[in-house]
Amino acid sequence: MQGLSRLFTRLYGIRLVPRDTLPGETWHPDVRRLDVISDTDGHVAVLYCDLFYRADKSPNPAHFTVRCSRQISEQEIHEAAQAISNRREEASTDAAIAEANDGMHVSKQVGSVKQLPTIALVCDFHHERSTKNEPALLHYYQMETLFHEMGHAIHSVLARTSLQNVAGTRCATDFAELPSTLMEHFCADPTVLQMFARHYETDEPLPYELVSERLQVLKRFEASDRENQIIMAMLDQQYHALRPGQTDFESTGVYHSLQRTYGKLPPDAEGTRWQGFFGHLFGYGSTYYSYLFDQVLSERVWRVVFSAGQNGSALNRANGERLKENLLKWGWKSRSLEDERLINGDEKAMRLVGSWGIQDDRHD
Ligand SMILES: [Zn+2]
Repeated sequence: MQGLSRLFTRLYGIRLVPRDTLPGETWHPDVRRLDVISDTDGHVAVLYCDLFYRADKSPNPAHFTVRCSRQISEQEIHEAAQAISNRREEASTDAAIAEANDGMHVSKQVGSVKQLPTIALVCDFHHERSTKNEPALLHYYQMETLFHEMGHAIHSVLARTSLQNVAGTRCATDFAELPSTLMEHFCADPTVLQMFARHYETDEPLPYELVSERLQVLKRFEASDRENQIIMAMLDQQYHALRPGQTDFESTGVYHSLQRTYGKLPPDAEGTRWQGFFGHLFGYGSTYYSYLFDQVLSERVWRVVFSAGQNGSALNRANGERLKENLLKWGWKSRSLEDERLINGDEKAMRLVGSWGIQDDRHD
């Protein structure tokens, strides 16, 4: 968490500060609170981290917006003041603001009062506490998960829209996985790892060759996984393209036929119905493709905005500001990549982004 805090300080001028919790503030003693503090705006968010395995806990890593950021309107404050007066208590402005936001944290910047985002990060890391007080030693993929979820969290933290229902991760699903998959690039970057990855006993820095070797091994089967993701994205589109009342629909047939037509790997065995286990086919409601779409976009952002980490670009404040202003605060703007062709966000723009995933565009 200290490493993430240092990364965010370098990129956005914000840091994560541990805070004790009040009795009853959290849902379990394992939960740790971090306050997000900005160099310029002070306290900007509250983050609850519940990172370790418990038998009664969902095993899926996730980011929850307990509350999104939003503007608290004059009228709400006025109504709250009224309610306080009706109780025959003194309705100071501060009391009215506290009442309008249920007593939770607000930021009072020039001209507007903002409800601060409250975020929960939930993971499932195993931590053997019995063994000589060792720290939780995460595998690479666990650290990647933490960075990914933190990518969602920072999106919620830096969002500054007036309305909560379009703040941060509540953007169009097309872009929801962009900040999180971008963080996976940071997590593999040697300058980022240098900031915190040290041996817990000897304090030796982690030799980067060990990391790159592991990454090479992990990448060996990347193509088959990607093929599977493409077929899932197509399947999701086909299931949601049905006409009402169409009677010859058979979900297994659609799935297996996609595998036969587009797959290089052998299709699933006859009589099996794997698609029935895959909850994202209804959870995403026809936008499952956004995962692949965002991997393509975040690769591009990593290369164009952060120069793929060359010469310390992964820790450059100007690059961080560019991402914050053009993506995290108000949602995606075409200026994020300074590519005229993306401005309209229309079919042509979508086609272009799609082509980046297929062709190597490093030279265009
Ligand atoms: Zn995600």
